Amino acid sequence: MTDTDSTTTGPLAPDDITADSPFTLPGFFDALAEGRLVAARCTECDEHMLPPRPACYGCGSRAVTIEEQPRTGEVISYTSVNRPPSAFDHLAPITVAVVELDSSARLTGRVDASLEDVTIGDRVELQVRDPESVDIDLDFDLSYEEDWPIHVFELV
Ligand SMILES: [Zn+2]
Repeated sequence: MTDTDSTTTGPLAPDDITADSPFTLPGFFDALAEGRLVAARCTECDEHMLPPRPACYGCGSRAVTIEEQPRTGEVISYTSVNRPPSAFDHLAPITVAVVELDSSARLTGRVDASLEDVTIGDRVELQVRDPESVDIDLDFDLSYEEDWPIHVFELV
């Protein structure tokens, strides 16, 4: 993995955006598997992008940097998904929430709780699990997804 300098504030060089850099989904999940939750932050307007993007979707700037994120945050929206992706089919309905992390970055993810037990404002903590240790069907559409860690929020 590219060791992106977190102090970089100028526009990204093309070399910074390799296939396995944190600015791609595979790179993001590689970092997550190592226990690092990373977001991109725009140094122009302070927008967080999670998963990271090489350009800001707030202002269009390419002056973005990678920052490690806290795993704790607060539910700001949630819903129930009756037909989740096939790997999670047997867990349906699943609860999915938009969580605002304590850094203000927002991440959508499954909540390990039933819909009735979740309320806006609930504190949650992100857990990262090895796919093999989780009771899911590893029948993914894309082979490289098999190695991606499973992230889930737990109520704290
Ligand atoms: Zn921006």
